[in-house]
Amino acid sequence: MFSRRLFFTFIATAPLLAQAAQPRPSTKPGTALPVLVLDPGHGGRDPGAIGVNGTYEKNVVLDIAQEVANACESAAKVKLTRESDKFIALPDRVAFAREQQANLFLSIHADSAPDNPQARGLSAYSLSQTASDDFAGQLAEGQNIVDERYGAAVKEQGVVASILYDLAAKQTITASRFAKSALVKGVGRDLRLLEAPKRSANFAVLRAPDVPSLLLETGFLSNAADEELLGDGQQRKKIARVLAREITTLLNNPLFR
Ligand SMILES: [Zn+2]
Repeated sequence: MFSRRLFFTFIATAPLLAQAAQPRPSTKPGTALPVLVLDPGHGGRDPGAIGVNGTYEKNVVLDIAQEVANACESAAKVKLTRESDKFIALPDRVAFAREQQANLFLSIHADSAPDNPQARGLSAYSLSQTASDDFAGQLAEGQNIVDERYGAAVKEQGVVASILYDLAAKQTITASRFAKSALVKGVGRDLRLLEAPKRSANFAVLRAPDVPSLLLETGFLSNAADEELLGDGQQRKKIARVLAREITTLLNNPLFR
Protein backbone atom coordinates (compact mmCIF):
# COMPACT_ATOMS: atom_id res chain seq x y z
CA MET A 1 0.00 0.00 0.00
CA PHE A 2 1.10 3.48 -0.84
CA SER A 3 1.80 5.59 2.22
CA ARG A 4 1.21 9.31 2.22
CA ARG A 5 4.04 9.82 4.65
CA LEU A 6 6.44 7.88 2.50
CA PHE A 7 5.10 9.72 -0.51
CA PHE A 8 5.87 13.05 1.02
CA THR A 9 9.23 11.82 2.19
CA PHE A 10 9.82 10.73 -1.37
CA ILE A 11 8.64 13.95 -2.89
CA ALA A 12 10.78 15.87 -0.44
CA THR A 13 13.88 13.88 -1.30
CA ALA A 14 13.42 13.00 -4.97
CA PRO A 15 16.43 14.36 -6.87
CA LEU A 16 14.02 15.66 -9.51
CA LEU A 17 12.46 17.97 -7.00
CA ALA A 18 15.34 18.35 -4.61
CA GLN A 19 16.03 21.96 -5.37
CA ALA A 20 12.45 22.98 -4.80
CA ALA A 21 11.70 20.78 -1.85
CA GLN A 22 11.31 22.21 1.61
CA PRO A 23 12.46 19.48 3.97
CA ARG A 24 9.56 18.19 6.00
CA PRO A 25 10.10 17.30 9.64
CA SER A 26 11.35 13.75 9.79
CA THR A 27 8.51 11.46 10.62
CA LYS A 28 9.21 7.82 11.16
CA PRO A 29 5.97 5.98 10.61
CA GLY A 30 4.95 4.03 13.65
CA THR A 31 7.26 5.70 16.14
CA ALA A 32 5.49 8.96 16.90
CA LEU A 33 1.92 9.42 18.08
CA PRO A 34 -0.43 10.03 15.16
CA VAL A 35 -1.84 13.53 14.81
CA LEU A 36 -5.61 13.83 15.17
CA VAL A 37 -7.25 17.12 14.22
CA LEU A 38 -10.75 17.62 15.58
CA ASP A 39 -12.86 20.34 14.05
CA PRO A 40 -15.86 21.50 16.08
CA GLY A 41 -18.20 22.86 13.42
CA HIS A 42 -19.39 26.48 13.22
CA GLY A 43 -18.67 28.94 16.06
CA GLY A 44 -18.90 32.65 16.74
CA ARG A 45 -21.40 34.37 14.48
CA ASP A 46 -22.28 31.00 12.90
CA PRO A 47 -24.40 29.02 15.39
CA GLY A 48 -24.91 26.05 13.05
CA ALA A 49 -28.21 24.23 13.55
CA ILE A 50 -30.51 25.46 16.30
CA GLY A 51 -32.51 22.74 18.07
CA VAL A 52 -36.28 22.60 18.42
CA ASN A 53 -35.74 23.63 22.03
CA GLY A 54 -33.04 26.16 21.30
CA THR A 55 -29.80 24.13 21.60
CA TYR A 56 -26.96 25.60 19.54
CA GLU A 57 -24.97 23.18 17.42
CA LYS A 58 -21.78 25.22 17.82
CA ASN A 59 -21.81 24.72 21.62
CA VAL A 60 -22.69 21.03 21.59
CA VAL A 61 -20.02 20.11 19.06
CA LEU A 62 -17.31 22.11 20.82
CA ASP A 63 -18.00 20.20 24.02
CA ILE A 64 -18.02 16.82 22.26
CA ALA A 65 -14.76 17.64 20.46
CA GLN A 66 -13.10 18.63 23.73
CA GLU A 67 -14.28 15.41 25.39
CA VAL A 68 -13.00 13.35 22.45
CA ALA A 69 -9.68 15.20 22.67
CA ASN A 70 -9.35 14.34 26.37
CA ALA A 71 -10.25 10.72 25.77
CA CYS A 72 -7.76 10.37 22.89
CA GLU A 73 -4.87 12.01 24.72
CA SER A 74 -2.79 8.86 25.15
CA ALA A 75 -3.45 7.57 21.62
CA ALA A 76 -2.80 10.69 19.57
CA LYS A 77 -1.42 14.18 19.48
CA VAL A 78 -4.78 15.95 19.37
CA LYS A 79 -5.30 19.44 17.96
CA LEU A 80 -8.56 21.38 17.73
CA THR A 81 -9.36 23.89 15.01
CA ARG A 82 -11.12 25.95 17.66
CA GLU A 83 -11.20 25.79 21.45
CA SER A 84 -13.63 28.62 21.99
CA ASP A 85 -16.75 30.14 20.48
CA LYS A 86 -15.13 31.75 17.46
CA PHE A 87 -15.81 31.77 13.75
CA ILE A 88 -13.32 29.97 11.50
CA ALA A 89 -13.65 29.86 7.71
CA LEU A 90 -13.78 26.40 6.14
CA PRO A 91 -10.58 26.71 4.12
CA ASP A 92 -8.76 27.70 7.30
CA ARG A 93 -9.89 24.49 9.00
CA VAL A 94 -8.55 22.45 6.10
CA ALA A 95 -5.34 24.46 6.08
CA PHE A 96 -4.90 23.85 9.80
CA ALA A 97 -5.23 20.06 9.36
CA ARG A 98 -2.65 20.14 6.56
CA GLU A 99 -0.24 22.32 8.53
CA GLN A 100 -0.48 19.92 11.43
CA GLN A 101 0.18 17.03 9.03
CA ALA A 102 -2.86 15.35 10.51
CA ASN A 103 -3.20 11.60 10.13
CA LEU A 104 -6.95 12.01 10.50
CA PHE A 105 -9.27 15.01 10.42
CA LEU A 106 -12.74 14.82 11.95
CA SER A 107 -15.20 17.64 11.60
CA ILE A 108 -17.85 17.29 14.30
CA HIS A 109 -21.41 18.50 13.75
CA ALA A 110 -25.04 17.99 14.68
CA ASP A 111 -27.64 17.75 11.95
CA SER A 112 -30.94 19.42 11.35
CA ALA A 113 -33.76 18.16 9.13
CA PRO A 114 -36.78 20.34 9.94
CA ASP A 115 -38.83 18.61 7.21
CA ASN A 116 -38.21 15.22 8.82
CA PRO A 117 -38.40 15.65 12.59
CA GLN A 118 -38.35 11.86 13.05
CA ALA A 119 -34.79 11.61 11.70
CA ARG A 120 -32.38 10.63 14.47
CA GLY A 121 -28.94 9.23 14.99
CA LEU A 122 -25.32 9.57 14.00
CA SER A 123 -23.99 9.56 10.45
CA ALA A 124 -20.61 10.07 8.82
CA TYR A 125 -19.74 11.76 5.55
CA SER A 126 -16.76 11.44 3.29
CA LEU A 127 -16.17 13.51 0.19
CA SER A 128 -18.61 12.30 -2.47
CA GLN A 129 -17.94 10.59 -5.73
CA THR A 130 -19.55 13.45 -7.58
CA ALA A 131 -17.38 15.82 -5.64
CA SER A 132 -14.56 13.69 -6.87
CA ASP A 133 -14.78 15.55 -10.16
CA ASP A 134 -14.78 18.74 -8.22
CA PHE A 135 -11.92 17.31 -6.24
CA ALA A 136 -10.14 16.60 -9.50
CA GLY A 137 -10.82 20.23 -10.24
CA GLN A 138 -9.20 21.13 -6.96
CA LEU A 139 -6.31 18.96 -7.95
CA ALA A 140 -6.04 20.80 -11.21
CA GLU A 141 -5.26 23.67 -8.90
CA GLY A 142 -2.94 21.27 -7.11
CA GLN A 143 -0.07 22.88 -8.92
CA ASN A 144 -0.69 26.02 -6.92
CA ILE A 145 -0.73 24.02 -3.72
CA VAL A 146 2.44 22.22 -4.70
CA ASP A 147 3.91 25.59 -5.57
CA GLU A 148 2.98 26.88 -2.16
CA ARG A 149 4.60 23.94 -0.49
CA TYR A 150 7.66 23.47 -2.56
CA GLY A 151 8.28 26.76 -4.22
CA ALA A 152 8.08 28.01 -7.75
CA ALA A 153 10.83 25.75 -9.13
CA VAL A 154 8.36 22.84 -8.97
CA LYS A 155 6.53 24.44 -11.88
CA GLU A 156 9.15 23.04 -14.19
CA GLN A 157 8.28 19.57 -12.93
CA GLY A 158 4.56 20.27 -13.06
CA VAL A 159 3.54 17.03 -14.76
CA VAL A 160 5.44 14.79 -12.37
CA ALA A 161 4.32 16.77 -9.34
CA SER A 162 0.65 16.66 -10.30
CA ILE A 163 0.75 12.90 -10.99
CA LEU A 164 2.26 12.28 -7.58
CA TYR A 165 -0.23 14.64 -6.01
CA ASP A 166 -3.08 12.78 -7.68
CA LEU A 167 -1.78 9.53 -6.22
CA ALA A 168 -1.75 11.05 -2.76
CA ALA A 169 -5.32 12.30 -3.18
CA LYS A 170 -6.57 8.88 -4.28
CA GLN A 171 -4.94 7.32 -1.26
CA THR A 172 -6.57 9.95 0.94
CA ILE A 173 -10.01 9.19 -0.48
CA THR A 174 -9.50 5.47 0.10
CA ALA A 175 -8.46 6.09 3.70
CA SER A 176 -11.40 8.47 4.27
CA ARG A 177 -13.92 5.91 3.03
CA PHE A 178 -12.33 3.21 5.14
CA ALA A 179 -12.52 5.50 8.18
CA LYS A 180 -16.19 6.20 7.50
CA SER A 181 -17.09 2.51 7.33
CA ALA A 182 -15.02 1.49 10.34
CA LEU A 183 -16.22 4.36 12.50
CA VAL A 184 -19.88 3.87 11.69
CA LYS A 185 -19.61 0.12 12.30
CA GLY A 186 -17.82 0.53 15.63
CA VAL A 187 -19.89 3.42 16.92
CA GLY A 188 -23.10 1.62 15.92
CA ARG A 189 -22.49 -0.96 18.65
CA ASP A 190 -23.23 1.68 21.29
CA LEU A 191 -24.90 4.67 19.70
CA ARG A 192 -28.01 5.13 17.64
CA LEU A 193 -27.26 5.49 13.94
CA LEU A 194 -29.22 7.26 11.28
CA GLU A 195 -30.72 4.96 8.67
CA ALA A 196 -28.07 4.69 5.92
CA PRO A 197 -25.42 6.30 8.14
CA LYS A 198 -22.54 6.08 5.64
CA ARG A 199 -22.99 9.16 3.53
CA SER A 200 -21.07 11.35 1.16
CA ALA A 201 -21.28 14.96 0.10
CA ASN A 202 -19.27 17.75 -1.30
CA PHE A 203 -18.17 19.41 1.94
CA ALA A 204 -15.48 22.03 1.51
CA VAL A 205 -14.02 21.05 4.86
CA LEU A 206 -13.27 17.53 3.56
CA ARG A 207 -11.13 18.61 0.66
CA ALA A 208 -7.59 18.27 1.99
CA PRO A 209 -5.86 16.14 -0.64
CA ASP A 210 -3.37 14.71 1.82
CA VAL A 211 -5.40 14.29 5.04
CA PRO A 212 -8.06 11.57 5.41
CA SER A 213 -11.13 13.55 6.42
CA LEU A 214 -14.58 12.77 7.76
CA LEU A 215 -17.52 14.84 8.84
CA LEU A 216 -19.56 13.38 11.69
CA GLU A 217 -23.14 14.34 12.33
CA THR A 218 -23.62 13.28 15.93
CA GLY A 219 -27.43 13.49 15.84
CA PHE A 220 -30.35 15.67 14.84
CA LEU A 221 -31.12 18.86 16.70
CA SER A 222 -34.39 18.93 14.77
CA ASN A 223 -35.46 15.81 16.69
CA ALA A 224 -36.52 16.52 20.27
CA ALA A 225 -35.12 13.23 21.64
CA ASP A 226 -31.76 13.69 19.94
CA GLU A 227 -31.66 17.30 21.08
CA GLU A 228 -32.21 16.16 24.64
CA LEU A 229 -29.32 13.68 24.37
CA LEU A 230 -26.99 16.18 22.75
CA GLY A 231 -27.97 18.80 25.29
CA ASP A 232 -27.00 16.54 28.20
CA GLY A 233 -23.37 16.72 29.32
CA GLN A 234 -23.28 13.10 30.50
CA GLN A 235 -24.66 11.87 27.18
CA ARG A 236 -22.12 13.98 25.31
CA LYS A 237 -19.38 12.37 27.40
CA LYS A 238 -20.70 8.96 26.45
CA ILE A 239 -20.80 9.85 22.75
CA ALA A 240 -17.26 11.20 23.03
CA ARG A 241 -15.94 8.08 24.77
CA VAL A 242 -17.40 5.82 22.08
CA LEU A 243 -15.99 8.03 19.33
CA ALA A 244 -12.59 8.11 21.02
CA ARG A 245 -12.51 4.32 21.29
CA GLU A 246 -13.18 3.90 17.58
CA ILE A 247 -10.80 6.71 16.57
CA THR A 248 -8.04 5.08 18.62
CA THR A 249 -8.62 1.78 16.82
CA LEU A 250 -8.56 3.56 13.46
CA LEU A 251 -5.31 5.36 14.20
CA ASN A 252 -3.58 2.02 14.77
CA ASN A 253 -4.31 1.11 11.17
CA PRO A 254 -1.33 1.69 8.81
CA LEU A 255 -3.65 3.61 6.45
CA PHE A 256 -3.47 6.44 8.95
CA ARG A 257 0.28 6.50 9.52
ZN1 LIG B 1 -22.95 21.66 11.30
